[in-house]
Amino acid sequence: MSARAETTHVTGGGEVGGEYPMADLYPASRLESAAEAARRSGLDVLLLTPGPDLRYLTGYDTHQSERLTCLAVPVAGPAFLVVPRLELASAQASPAAGMNLEFVVWDETDDPYHAVARRLGAVGTVGLAGQMWAMMVLRFRDAMPGAPQGLAAAALRALRIRKTPAEVAALAAAGAAIDRVHARVPQWLRPGRTEREAAADIASAIAAEGHARIDFVIVGSGPNAAKPHHEPSDRVLSQGDAVVVDIGGTMPSGYCSDCTRTYALGAAPPDMAAYYAVLAEAQEAACAAVRPGTPAQAVDAAARDPIAAAGYGAQFTHRTGHGIGLETHEDPYIVAGNTEELEPGMAFSVEPGIYPGPHGARIEDIVVCTDGGYRRLNNGSRELIVVGA
Ligand code: ZN
Ligand code: ZN
Repeated sequence: MSARAETTHVTGGGEVGGEYPMADLYPASRLESAAEAARRSGLDVLLLTPGPDLRYLTGYDTHQSERLTCLAVPVAGPAFLVVPRLELASAQASPAAGMNLEFVVWDETDDPYHAVARRLGAVGTVGLAGQMWAMMVLRFRDAMPGAPQGLAAAALRALRIRKTPAEVAALAAAGAAIDRVHARVPQWLRPGRTEREAAADIASAIAAEGHARIDFVIVGSGPNAAKPHHEPSDRVLSQGDAVVVDIGGTMPSGYCSDCTRTYALGAAPPDMAAYYAVLAEAQEAACAAVRPGTPAQAVDAAARDPIAAAGYGAQFTHRTGHGIGLETHEDPYIVAGNTEELEPGMAFSVEPGIYPGPHGARIEDIVVCTDGGYRRLNNGSRELIVVGA
């Protein structure tokens, strides 16, 4: 998506939404839970290069690079973090330093892949991070020729999909931050400005309201409102436009925000009120369907059925939602065919859209399944927001 910004690396200290310390968000017990989950999944060891799985288990946030950083979590034996010497200080400043974890440092002339293989000895199936670079997958295959390769997600999916109270608090803080941005959006949507200019102001606000990283800024005006993943362009906003604004970022905690509201400049297009009312009801119905035991696909159906019944089924061209956590898009996906039952702690978007052209609308909130039903983490008005009326 657009408007990439620099990542701020967050280390061991700090609070998460004021309620939980970072140690609650990344508890040291995760390593044992992961080893146990690996054993249940038939994996002998997890090998996790930088990305959401590594951060989930250790709190360590660092970029992929050609120098290998890799957390090894064997089913039998202690976990260790292989780290290039020049990045040791960063790793030691992360929550990983407070865990029962040996740091294995390598120098520029060492072969870290064989170092991992030697420490592990004879192993069966290795579970690799889904976002590991292919170059690293192949080098691990060469270093451990007898070990079949699988995905670490087979073990970690079940852990990551159910958020702890500290994770829900982090997602709620992210939701509140993006709500504050949406509250400020109307001032930047003015006739005569371009989508790109409005997006730049919104991106600055995403950072100013507490995000460490701007992940995406969608400003789709006029006919572009009918393109769900539109990139901000030089199109000039004009009176009577519908404008879909879908924005999100990553908080210093590592947890993501994602929220869509639809605006109208001066007045909505004449035929928009009818389908916007259908959309708002569908979004409400889908949220209301969220409770433990409901299949994910039933939430999709709760949004899709009223939209189809009103004659707009062909204009709702995407799934209803996606899980969210350390990644903006992760399990569970709220889509037809996903029969997985919702459980307390699952967090995902509910974001139906109707795109008849030459305009369109979407409403998106992040919702958490609770013991008794659901909790919305975005709480700004869901009405069509008429700007400068
Ligand atoms: Zn979104
Ligand atoms: Zn979304």
